[in-house]
Amino acid sequence: MTTQAFDSVTYQTSTGWSDQPTDYAPPLEGDVQCDVAVIGGGLAGMAAALRLAERGADVVLLEAGYCGWAASSRNAGYLSNELAGEAEVLRLLYRRKLRDLTRYAKNSAEFTERLIERLGVDCDYDPTGNVKAAISTRQLKKLKKGMQILRDAGADVEFVDGRDFGLPDTFLGGLFFPGGGLLNAGKFAFGFRDALLASRAKVFERTTVQAVDPDGAKVVVTVPGGRVHAERVVLATNAHTRDLSIAPSGVVPVWTSVVETEPVDPDRLEAIGWTSRAGIVTPHTILENYRRTDRGTLLFGTRRLQAAPTTLGAREPDHAVVADLVRGFHERFPSLGYVAPRRAWGGWVAITSFLPVAGEVAKNVFYAISCNGHGLAQSPYIGTLVADRIAGDEPHDDLRALWRPRPPHLPSLALSAPMLQAAWASDRISDRLSGRR
Ligand SMILES: Cc1cc2nc3c(=O)[nH]c(=O)nc-3n(C[C@H](O)[C@H](O)[C@H](O)COP(=O)(O)OP(=O)(O)OC[C@H]3O[C@@H](n4cnc5c(N)ncnc54)[C@H](O)[C@@H]3O)c2cc1C
Repeated sequence: MTTQAFDSVTYQTSTGWSDQPTDYAPPLEGDVQCDVAVIGGGLAGMAAALRLAERGADVVLLEAGYCGWAASSRNAGYLSNELAGEAEVLRLLYRRKLRDLTRYAKNSAEFTERLIERLGVDCDYDPTGNVKAAISTRQLKKLKKGMQILRDAGADVEFVDGRDFGLPDTFLGGLFFPGGGLLNAGKFAFGFRDALLASRAKVFERTTVQAVDPDGAKVVVTVPGGRVHAERVVLATNAHTRDLSIAPSGVVPVWTSVVETEPVDPDRLEAIGWTSRAGIVTPHTILENYRRTDRGTLLFGTRRLQAAPTTLGAREPDHAVVADLVRGFHERFPSLGYVAPRRAWGGWVAITSFLPVAGEVAKNVFYAISCNGHGLAQSPYIGTLVADRIAGDEPHDDLRALWRPRPPHLPSLALSAPMLQAAWASDRISDRLSGRR
């Protein structure tokens, strides 16, 4: 792969959606007691802490950076009511549960829409729905086949013609999921953070948890400046889960990147038939996503996933990956070749075998982890469901569908650098064979 450095691109180590907060909550110093300690302040952890606080629990949230700084503010902003993974693979792996899982995904999107409204978070949410769109007749056939499986499982999905629906002329048509929509992920995550900071929850930022030890009736959580003695603990650590020895295995981190362009004249989009505002993803092995933003720019991403080193640090996207994403953009939108990419960022997502997972990994140590690149809708929901269970409710049917003592084992080879490279290469070969780029 040739590498092209784009002078016009700012490579960011944090989200490009919005400014970062500057008003950090203090780190934890000393020993504290509480009912529940939540570890991780992404959407899952913030939702769990907020729910518990609203239900009267004495809750402490411990966040290594600041709430929302990781995947939760960096994502592409697709609030999707779909499960991750191809329909046929999901049926193969989860035939008996597919109806329950489909209902869970739908409920996730609806829950998060209501949460945005309830908290009054201004995040440019637009309930456009999202479309899985084909660039070739082969992909189109695959999507049609998948649609029946999804419908049988109860999904609200319809087939749309690309031109009639207002997709850019690259796309022949695809599966439209009318639920969900698009938002500004930075505004959502940091707006959620504001709501959490205003709640009764005690939030400690720049506080990395080093160990979690069940100790009789309590669980002891150790951080550099002190300890928390909690009745119960929730791990909401997403891609960073493997750093804690108590955490469940089978959660694999991978890096994914996005690029945002300069603003584009809407007439130029109309000229290529792009009148729909729905988010677009492709059904490649590693999906591509293309969307319009509220600030008149285009955002595109993924296409290539990168395996994780031993330590997950802050990093900017690789220039080679950005060059490949821009090449993909030019292939899909040849008439927009003049549009300059302006910034690129990325983040760590956690992968399991397509499903988010929740469970009790040790006595009184719960987890809500890994939404496989679909956590914008699912993470707030799963965090809330776990909180409700901890607060004493009977487990919700959606939580039962995900509950596991540990995530299903995912062979580490499946997400190794050579396998991810092979998946990218097979997508490029299939692009070429399809005769459409
Ligand atoms: C580039 C990109 C694009 C994406 N696009 C989409 C999309 O369009 N739609 C969608 O649905 N999903 C998307 N995702 C995935 C989505 O963002 C995630 O699934 C979701 O944000 C996960 O939320 P979370 O709370 O589980 O994890 P995170 O937001 O990753 O939060 C986990 C938090 O735990 C903290 N933590 C971890 N370990 C410790 C510790 N030991 N001590 C203290 N704190 C700790 C971390 O600092 C972090 O803040 C995307 C992700 C990325 C990176």
